[in-house]
Amino acid sequence: MPRWSRDTAFAAVVVLAAAALRAQSPAPLKVLISADMEGVGGVSTWSVQAGSKGREYEKFRELMTKEVNAAVEGAFAAGATEVVVGDSHGDAQNIDVELLDKRARLIRAWPRPLAMMQGIDATFGAVVFVGYHAAEGRPAATLSHSFSGTIEVELDGVPVPEAGFNAAIAGDFGVPVVFLSGDQTICGDAKKLFGPIETAVVKEATGFYSATMIHPEEAQRLIREGVRRGVARRGELKPYRIAHPVTLRIRYNSVVEAEVVAMLPGVERPAGNVIVFRGRDMVEVSKFFEAISNIRVQ
Ligand SMILES: [Zn+2]
Repeated sequence: MPRWSRDTAFAAVVVLAAAALRAQSPAPLKVLISADMEGVGGVSTWSVQAGSKGREYEKFRELMTKEVNAAVEGAFAAGATEVVVGDSHGDAQNIDVELLDKRARLIRAWPRPLAMMQGIDATFGAVVFVGYHAAEGRPAATLSHSFSGTIEVELDGVPVPEAGFNAAIAGDFGVPVVFLSGDQTICGDAKKLFGPIETAVVKEATGFYSATMIHPEEAQRLIREGVRRGVARRGELKPYRIAHPVTLRIRYNSVVEAEVVAMLPGVERPAGNVIVFRGRDMVEVSKFFEAISNIRVQ
């Protein structure tokens, strides 16, 4: 065989091998899972399950971890190549690091600039919310509240639950929320805000503390299947975008808290317990919110 044809054959083999490798390795697909605890199946109160001093807290941080694992499995089943989990409840150190699916990476503890959405950027393909809860004041909603110490949070005049604030951060990066689990109220509210995302109703709230529960394994199955469908449908779901600049309006429980935050330059105080801040984008708004939440008046 002449030299040139051996080289040509070798080059052809290299090209074919590279093409085969490309065909085998899937396109990168990164999924961010933001996990809270109030909306985990079986959780009904802070005093018993969702507070770190609660009688059943250890059991329920394990169940929170299992719900997150179900979401991780669903994401990989839909083609995810990388999954990042943000522990986003209480002190953000609830998820059991040993029990967590080995394929996931875990973000723990506060403070962090993007708070419950830390880790998100434009390289992600989908966002998943596990264990979420409705906004402060919603009737028949388990442990409904909006962040901490606030009665209402608005973005550009629209009252949003934590899920809405967090979805808007992802929206700034062009990433859609594809799934949410929690009680029936936040699942319904999320669909109204974000469009036809996948949800898993893991409890039927009958009041602030009381709810009808399903078995944890059933909740995990609903989450696994819902996340798989949601991640697969990511192309048809729209990012939740807020126009720039973003106006953040917070109504606090405490007049003193609003008084102190309003001492910062650029912050308005249209009413005793209300502050207004205008940020360039959701990243700036999130950093502002995280900062004022971490220097709060005791
Ligand atoms: Zn929480």
